[in-house]
Amino acid sequence: MDDVAIIGGGIAGMATAARLQSQGLSTIVLEAHGQPGGCAGFYRRQGFSFDVGATTLVDFEPGGVGGELLRSIGMSPVAGEVLPGYVAWLPDRRVTLYRDSQLWQAERAKMLGDTPAHRQFWRRLDHIAGVFWRASRRGVRLPLRTPTDIARAVRSVGLANLPLSRYLNWTMGDALRAHGLRDDQALVGLLAMLVEDTVHSTVDEAPLINAALGITIRGSGLMRAEGGMRGFWRSFVDHYRRLGGHLRVGCPVRRVTGREGEFLVETRRGTIQARQIVSAVPVELTSRLAPGEVSRRLQPYLSRDADAGGGAVVVFLGVPEEEVDGQEFTHHQLVQQYDAPLGNGNNMFISVSAAGDTASAPGGYRAVMISTHCELARWQGLSPEEYDCLKVEIGTRLIALARRVYPRLGTAAKVCEVGTPRTYERFTHRPQGAVGGVRQMLSNSNQKAIPHELGVPGFWLAGDTTWPGLGTVACVLGSRLVAERVLHRARRWSPASRQELPSGSLGDAYA
Ligand SMILES: Cc1cc2nc3c(=O)[nH]c(=O)nc-3n(C[C@H](O)[C@H](O)[C@H](O)COP(=O)(O)OP(=O)(O)OC[C@H]3O[C@@H](n4cnc5c(N)ncnc54)[C@H](O)[C@@H]3O)c2cc1C
Repeated sequence: MDDVAIIGGGIAGMATAARLQSQGLSTIVLEAHGQPGGCAGFYRRQGFSFDVGATTLVDFEPGGVGGELLRSIGMSPVAGEVLPGYVAWLPDRRVTLYRDSQLWQAERAKMLGDTPAHRQFWRRLDHIAGVFWRASRRGVRLPLRTPTDIARAVRSVGLANLPLSRYLNWTMGDALRAHGLRDDQALVGLLAMLVEDTVHSTVDEAPLINAALGITIRGSGLMRAEGGMRGFWRSFVDHYRRLGGHLRVGCPVRRVTGREGEFLVETRRGTIQARQIVSAVPVELTSRLAPGEVSRRLQPYLSRDADAGGGAVVVFLGVPEEEVDGQEFTHHQLVQQYDAPLGNGNNMFISVSAAGDTASAPGGYRAVMISTHCELARWQGLSPEEYDCLKVEIGTRLIALARRVYPRLGTAAKVCEVGTPRTYERFTHRPQGAVGGVRQMLSNSNQKAIPHELGVPGFWLAGDTTWPGLGTVACVLGSRLVAERVLHRARRWSPASRQELPSGSLGDAYA
C-alpha cells in the first residue's frame, strides 16, 4: 500500500508528489496520458519540441514559489532562458513589459501616461502586488477556514498590511475608476490583455488582488526551460524517480472508493491501495471519480462555476530561424483592437524557443507557439468538416496576426499544427477542453475559491481549479499547501511510521 496516490501528473500533481516523496512518504502518480505535464506538457514532431500550453515557468528562481519547490525537494535550478520581459503590441503602440522594476516604471510612464492619477494608480497596484507576492511565497492559504489559517494569513501578509484586506472586495475596474482611469484606452487595453492572460477575466470582473498579481507576474521572474516543458519534465521526473516516487503513465483513474487509511483506486491497469488521495485533476473530473461524499460537496461549486470555463487555441510552428529574426525578445503579447472582445486572436501570446536551444528545435530552426483564448461553445457540436474548417481558419488567422511581429512567420514552416479545445479534451481529459481554471471573479476566488479539502479525511484537491487558481505558479503554491496537510495527517493517524520525517519539514509548517 502506498502512503499517497496522486491522480493526475500535471504540474500540480507532480509537484505535490515530489514534495511528499522527498519528505519520506511513499507516493504513486497515476497519469492518464502517455507522459506527464498536462496543460504544462509538450509534444514532439520532426525534431521539434512544442509546449502544449504553459511555455513559461513563473517564479522558479531561488526564493520564489517555484524556487522553493525545487529547494524543498533537493532539485537543482532548471536550466533555461530567463526572460527579461515581454513586448506588448497594443493597436497604437508597443510597450516593453520589463522584468526589471525600474525599467518597467520608466517605460510605463513614457508609454502609458505620467499624470498624478497614473502614478497613484501604479503605486497602489505595486503595493498590493508586493504584499501579496510576499504572502504567496510565505505560503498564505485561502479560503480561511480555521484559526490556524487566519493566524498564518496575518503572519504572511504582515500586521501593517492588514488594511489591504479591504481590497478583497475590489475589482481591477474599481481601482481604475478610483483614479479616474477607467476610460484610458491604452492603459485599460494593456491591463485587459494581462488580466485575461493570467486570471482569465475582464478588468471589471477580475478581483483586484489577483489581477495585480497577474499583471506583475513578470517581476517575479519568468523563464522558458531549455528544451521547453519537455526539458523541465525530463529533469523533474528523473528527480522524482530518484527520490523513489512512482509515475505510472497511460493509467487513467476510473474510481476511488473507501476511506482514509484504505482508499481503493481503480485504474485501467488494476486497483491500487493508498492511505491518502490527492486528486490533481480539474474538480469536475474529481467529482466523477471520487467517493460520493466528495462529489456531493463539490456540487455547489460546480453549479456556480458551470459557465466560467474558457478554452484556448494554439498554433505550433517549426520554422527556419530567419522567420523569427529581428526581435530582441522571444515572447510577445498582442492586442489587435481596443474595442473588440478579447480572445480568438484579438489578443494572443507568442513564445519562441531561445536561439541555440537545440533541445526545442533542430539547429537553424526555432519552435514557435502562438496561443489565444476562445469560447468553448464555438467548438462544440461541429461536424468533422466544420471542425476542420474552423481549425484551418483560426490557425491561418493567428499566423497572419503574428506577422505584425515576425513578417515572414510560417512562410516555410516545417511543422504547422493547431491545437483546439478538442485537442485538450483528448490529451488532458479536461471537460470540454476547458483550460486554465475558471474565470476569476469576486464570486469565485480567494475566500470563495474551491479549497484543497472538503472535509473528507485523507482526500485532497490540487490543481488550477482550486485555490489560488491557474498557472504554474498557482499550482506549485497549491501543491505546497496540500503537501503540508497530507504530511500533517500522515503523522496524525500513523505517528509511529512517520517518525523518520525530518524536522523542519513541510508537516511542521502546518502544525
Ligand atoms: C495555452 C495555454 C497557455 C498557458 N500558458 C501558461 C504560462 O505560460 N505560464 C503558466 O504558468 N501557466 C500557463 N498556462 C496555465 C497552466 O498550463 C495550467 O494552469 C497548469 O498547467 C494546470 O496544471 P494542473 O496540474 O492543475 O492541471 P493539468 O495540467 O490539466 O493536469 C492534470 C493531469 O491529470 C491527467 N488526468 C485527467 N484525468 C485523469 C484521470 N482520470 N486519471 C489520471 N490522470 C488524469 C491529465 O492527463 C493531466 O495530465 C497555460 C495554459 C494554456 C492552456
